[in-house]
Amino acid sequence: MNAVKGPRPLFDSRWMTDAACTRLPGLPWTENRVPRLLVDLMAETCAACPVQEVCEDFVHETRVVGGWWAGSFRSECTDPDTATAVADSHESTDDAA
Ligand code: SF4
Repeated sequence: MNAVKGPRPLFDSRWMTDAACTRLPGLPWTENRVPRLLVDLMAETCAACPVQEVCEDFVHETRVVGGWWAGSFRSECTDPDTATAVADSHESTDDAA
């Protein structure tokens, strides 16, 4: 018998190699406040992702609490429209300065 030595991985991440988001690394996947245009692009990417169901399971199993995963925000700010409104208000404030 060939026993595997060494520490066990915390989780199996092999599914991530097929993740559609890995082909768009410039998008703000780990942010909680994102402009509407980018939210729409991230949502479209997740909707077409071949591992979306596995991603959703991963989020629940690991209790992810931030960023955009499997088509939605995972922070306390879970409404994309609210997040966009917050982002837009910051842009307006910046423009007035
Ligand atoms: S469903 Fe998950 S793995 Fe797929 S693109 Fe969205 S965040 Fe990435």
